Amino acid sequence: MIQYNYHTHTRRCHHAEGTEREYIEKAIRAGIRELGFSDHCPVPFENGYVSPVRMTMDEAPEYFSTIRSLAEEYRDRLEIRCGFEMEYTPDLFERQIRFYESLGCDYLILGQHYAGREDIGPYVGRKTDDPWILTRYVDLVLEGASTGKFLYVAHPDVCWFEGDNEIYRRECERLCGGLLQMDIPIEINGLGMATSRNYPNESFWRIAGEVGNTVVIGMDAHTPDQLADETVWGKCRDLAEKCNVRLTDKKLL
Ligand SMILES: [Zn+2]
Ligand SMILES: [Zn+2]
Repeated sequence: MIQYNYHTHTRRCHHAEGTEREYIEKAIRAGIRELGFSDHCPVPFENGYVSPVRMTMDEAPEYFSTIRSLAEEYRDRLEIRCGFEMEYTPDLFERQIRFYESLGCDYLILGQHYAGREDIGPYVGRKTDDPWILTRYVDLVLEGASTGKFLYVAHPDVCWFEGDNEIYRRECERLCGGLLQMDIPIEINGLGMATSRNYPNESFWRIAGEVGNTVVIGMDAHTPDQLADETVWGKCRDLAEKCNVRLTDKKLL
């Protein structure tokens, strides 16, 4: 049964459904003990770009105050944390961290959706055989992880590379090896499993199994129902077992 989930969105990001309260009610009914909200972080784009997939900087304080007051209301039934899922963007990182820390952010997970910036791209979830995209993705994740600001790496296998197998293996070994050294867990992603995306990618998880990374399951819930989908959870566990990865069920916060 699902005990902890640190990868939860809300309707604030414009592509997920459900209020914080609806996720909390669902978590309690499902027997979850600790729920972490990690909605897509606001990004201070400097060129006027407005993201269609995340809250704005101005909207972030209300996200925190809503969750803090719900955490108080539900404190006898559920431990509730508030954080963000964040991309590592070198030129914006310091500013973002300062802002999130000023909000009292509990944790961050690293979900690197771009091999650059959202407004510039490229998006790594689009199929490619370009080794530059994969290499740049791995570089950014490792550099981001090395800041020590992240609890874990979400969907480390999000980059949809269908080029040379040797390159894929080499880059995945570099990613897994680097994260192992930094002692940062990696996530088998429930949303990818639920919606049959290019991730979780079995080839990747076999490599993670060989390297010996610590692995968590994150539901990446974009609806309250996805949060407690035991079928998806079971499939993630089965994949972990099949690929011989070291799954931890421990509380991370
Ligand atoms: Zn999302
Ligand atoms: Zn997510």
